[in-house]
Amino acid sequence: MVDYLIVGAGLAGIGLAHTLRSKGRSFVVIDDGSQKSSSVAGGMYNPVILKRFTPVWQADAQLAKLAPFYADMEDFLGCSLNFPLPVYRIFSSVEEQNNWFSATDNPLLQPYMSSNIRKNSYTTINAPYGFGEVLHAGRVDFGKAQQDYKRRLKEEGLFYEETFDYTAITSDVDGVTYKNIRAKHLVFCEGYGLKNNPFFNYLPLRGTKGQVLIIRSEELNVNEVIKSGAFIIPLGDNMYKIGATYEQDDKTQNVTEEAKNELLRKLKNFMNCSFELISQEAGIRPTVSDRRPLVGAHPEYNNIYIINGLGSRGVMIAPYVAEQLYQFIEAKEPLEAAISIDRFKRYYS
Ligand SMILES: Cc1cc2nc3c(=O)[nH]c(=O)nc-3n(C[C@H](O)[C@H](O)[C@H](O)COP(=O)(O)OP(=O)(O)OC[C@H]3O[C@@H](n4cnc5c(N)ncnc54)[C@H](O)[C@@H]3O)c2cc1C
Repeated sequence: MVDYLIVGAGLAGIGLAHTLRSKGRSFVVIDDGSQKSSSVAGGMYNPVILKRFTPVWQADAQLAKLAPFYADMEDFLGCSLNFPLPVYRIFSSVEEQNNWFSATDNPLLQPYMSSNIRKNSYTTINAPYGFGEVLHAGRVDFGKAQQDYKRRLKEEGLFYEETFDYTAITSDVDGVTYKNIRAKHLVFCEGYGLKNNPFFNYLPLRGTKGQVLIIRSEELNVNEVIKSGAFIIPLGDNMYKIGATYEQDDKTQNVTEEAKNELLRKLKNFMNCSFELISQEAGIRPTVSDRRPLVGAHPEYNNIYIINGLGSRGVMIAPYVAEQLYQFIEAKEPLEAAISIDRFKRYYS
């Protein structure tokens, strides 16, 4: 008997597993590697929406959880995962500079947007109007976290590498039984894999494909995240992640020439140095039409729960929603209405 059975070892599943570990709860994790969103993600966290200069939903609360959560995971895994880095948003005009200044008057944005325009000192980046600097941003190397965490779970005998069989589960008042596992609670954290889940596929998960490129450049020499039409995210050792596309129609995880060309075109619009293309990766972001996570209990089956809908901001949201689901289950605290799947109860039949 374990306290929790978790299906999915992406940001949502590992976020929950690590939360449970810190609370002294027992758990096992099942994952089949069928979804790649967390491993291809840029890993950035950034409290400002850079298209509109508006605050990210619950940015203060999410950032307050983020730093201690990943620090604790770093301690557990014995490696560095959280790399605070400013984001430099390239201004394309004086008008954009003015819009940035107006936004810094918003008390919700003041802590996160520097009111000084950064001059461009990079010869490899085209930014004649300079940069707006986002503070309290950074990158979590979740690709590494995921690999290391899964390895630790395997060593502890807490990880099953298999596709979850939905027909092999029974639920009763005291918990769930899945094959030879007895658990008090079952939590599905399957990302876009939710589409195959008969318990929760009534939820309106949309899915937005994203592709990234990994490049190497000796000349670029950039230490901040640079954002224009695309992001440049420094990974160290002259390696950079370039992202990302947003594709609504294609739900495969295949990389495409079109996406590669789109990212290269956008990159060359603001970067002017030589580089080598190393690789290209694709995943499906678990997006929801109202842009809020999907968290809560199944409307009918006892002890079956979900964490999903982390969208394009899983790094910030995962620790935040894991804590909320934990408090909901263990302390019977109500979930925030914005994240509760009760908002979609009308779709359940
Ligand atoms: C190109 C790209 C760039 C991104 N950049 C960022 C970024 O910079 N910052 C950020 O915060 N977010 C970013 N995101 C979004 C982020 O990746 C997602 O929010 C996050 O990965 C979602 O995590 P998840 O655990 O819900 O889903 P997933 O990562 O998809 O994990 C689900 C897991 O469940 C497993 N699974 C599914 N079904 C089953 C089954 N039936 N049986 C067993 N296992 C199953 C899968 O194998 C997978 O491991 C990006 C996404 C993409 C695609």
